[in-house]
Amino acid sequence: MARLVLKFGGTSVRDIERIKSVALRVKREVDAGHEIAVVVSAMAGVTNQLVDWVGQISRLHDAREYDAVVASGEQVTAGLVALALQDLGVNARSWLGWQIPLETDGVHGKARIGEITTAEIERRFGEGQVAVVAGFQGIGPDQRITTLGRGGSDTSAVALAAALRADRCDIFTDVDGVYTTDPRIVTKARKLDRITYEEMLEMASQGAKVLQTRSVEMAMNHSVRVQVLSSFVDAPGTLVVDEDEIVEQQVVSGIAYSRDEAKVTLLRVADRPGVAASIFGPLADHAINVDMIVQNVSEDGRATDLTFTVAKADLERALAVLEQSREQLGFHSLKPDSNVVKISVIGVGMRSHAGVAKQMFQTLADKGINIQVISTSEIKVSVLIAEEYTELALRALHTAYGLDAA
Ligand code: ASP
Ligand code: MG
Repeated sequence: MARLVLKFGGTSVRDIERIKSVALRVKREVDAGHEIAVVVSAMAGVTNQLVDWVGQISRLHDAREYDAVVASGEQVTAGLVALALQDLGVNARSWLGWQIPLETDGVHGKARIGEITTAEIERRFGEGQVAVVAGFQGIGPDQRITTLGRGGSDTSAVALAAALRADRCDIFTDVDGVYTTDPRIVTKARKLDRITYEEMLEMASQGAKVLQTRSVEMAMNHSVRVQVLSSFVDAPGTLVVDEDEIVEQQVVSGIAYSRDEAKVTLLRVADRPGVAASIFGPLADHAINVDMIVQNVSEDGRATDLTFTVAKADLERALAVLEQSREQLGFHSLKPDSNVVKISVIGVGMRSHAGVAKQMFQTLADKGINIQVISTSEIKVSVLIAEEYTELALRALHTAYGLDAA
């Protein structure tokens, strides 16, 4: 007998037919004798609709009321899934965040999970009851409903799995696992049987949208075994596990890309101590995250060029902040460019293998693709290139690192 958390995303509960098949899938695990908690998202499209309604009423909305509205999608699916299970003769009840309770901090719209009280759910496991939990939501210190940020029901599921000391957390979605890269672009992309937490974390934060980044962090910190699999086909998915569980480690496991960043170049910035601080300080004060940065060597020792990337959504604000301090920073001009994509090759094997970056640069050079910015970490090399080369670069790199399916 195992204890499992099964999480179903929006497409898996998009209509009543799908909800009924989710119930059948859950029943199979119940019949196999397992203790089951189910975590559900809102039906596909519902959260977007709710967010849109809030925006139509008030642009500068009260974040507590935003949460009261957008958390409601999950309440509907939790109730419907519990009903569908009961209809199949399975003992089940729904749980909202506040009923568990799943406590969070008070940062409405992107709250972080604190304590989860599981005693009652576990007692009911003993009676054979399935817990159907509304994902994405919790209760804040002021007893108000909170939500965990878009895509947050992945994090609900992993957090619940940690609190329940579950044997595994299965994330059912519309893809059948984690791929070496986006299969919609690279037809030779392969499904991975296993991937390490660290690699998954990089894949998620570098643009692969299978799991919410925070859920991977949480799984890594609490050693929760996570499986990503399809709710539409009956086959094992990808297991996210510790490095020592991976037998044959590739040097590069996957290639991610993100079109969500924009590049900003400051031309002829004064080259003196404190300049970087005076540029990035105000951006940070405005909660604008900077990702990649390059600074050129200045030839005359007086002025230099500085290039960095920010989220596309923050670009306008970043430009405004920089313009405001133009006098003080003493730069000559400011050049934004949204026509870029960040491509990252990822693999824990890089720690012990040299030459991964070189191979990336050579492969792109052979295709005539110019690299604009580079950044690296222990298990990742990222480059910024012109957006129109996304497909070409992904395919070439996928082949170069030996990732193509036979
Ligand atoms: N329904 C929420 C969203 O669309 C949470 C989730 O699906 O994970 O962001
Ligand atoms: Mg999701």
